[in-house]
Amino acid sequence: LENLLKYSDNIDVYTRLAEIKKINKIRFAEYIKGTTNISVNIDSIFDVQAKRLHEYKRQLLNALHILYLYEMLKENPNMPFQPRTFIFSAKAAPGYHMAKRIIRLICCIANEVNRDKIIGDKLKAVFLEDYRVTLAEIMMPAAEISEQISLAGTEASGTGNMKLMINGAITLGTLDGANVEISEAVGDDNILIFGLRANEVEAMKQNGYYPSNYYNNPIISRLIERLISGISGVSFEDIASSLIGQNGRGDPYMVLADFDSYRQIQEEAALRYSNPNRWNKMSLINIASAGRFSSDKAISEYSNWIWKIDKLNDIK
Ligand SMILES: *Cc1c(COP(=O)(O)O)cnc(C)c1O
Repeated sequence: LENLLKYSDNIDVYTRLAEIKKINKIRFAEYIKGTTNISVNIDSIFDVQAKRLHEYKRQLLNALHILYLYEMLKENPNMPFQPRTFIFSAKAAPGYHMAKRIIRLICCIANEVNRDKIIGDKLKAVFLEDYRVTLAEIMMPAAEISEQISLAGTEASGTGNMKLMINGAITLGTLDGANVEISEAVGDDNILIFGLRANEVEAMKQNGYYPSNYYNNPIISRLIERLISGISGVSFEDIASSLIGQNGRGDPYMVLADFDSYRQIQEEAALRYSNPNRWNKMSLINIASAGRFSSDKAISEYSNWIWKIDKLNDIK
């Protein structure tokens, strides 16, 4: 894979790469249409967050940001805007009530945004049921942004991040789990990092984290009000309360603390996407740097260093 790096300044190569991505986007758009009846804009950024639904993985941060973009576009429909499609897929554990509420929220946001004629093709949100390998097989080749936004210090490694990287998606994430290794492999210019670092999260917990410190941010207070007043006819007062909390127990995964940083890196992502040559080059560098996550390499290192066993074909 590293041999691909030789072509990192060859416009023909990464233009061809972009053509392949487009074919994969068309195939995936057909799947979306077939399963949800939502028509997505092929020329929009395909921004994917696919993983188990858990509060620490922060699908809620992504959902609140879509709500923010929606409110902005409604206020100013003619503002310059890079069209985007946010795609979620996730299962919630059967007894995990809050996870199911977050799925409900994503579906309500999608319902309201997708049928808004003023917004049109600029912004779409999709929730795909039944996340499984068969779905990942057509979703990951079509992805352009890989959402890896868990609170720093909570994700042991992650493997979805690697699957998306080798398919040329750009990681938009926190310095958590294997995102740290991805960032070392591709360099700061080829990844979109935001948010609190693990040591900063620890320090904040030590000093007491008060989500109320973020309400004076008018964007955040408006989003909380929006959750309470309701989306697509459903109130999400319970999710708002979990963020606000009481007795210093709100927002355990620091969604509000990282919101502004997330909003800014999403803006940067849109800016970079507007320059296809730059974007396609980043994509090529990500594919070329993904070899370190090869499962053959991992097994061979375990064999040599941990298990101290020989390869079968080495046994005479
Ligand atoms: C890769 C994968 C996961 C793990 O995703 P993470 O982003 O690492 O949490 C879970 N479910 C399916 C179906 C996958 O393909």
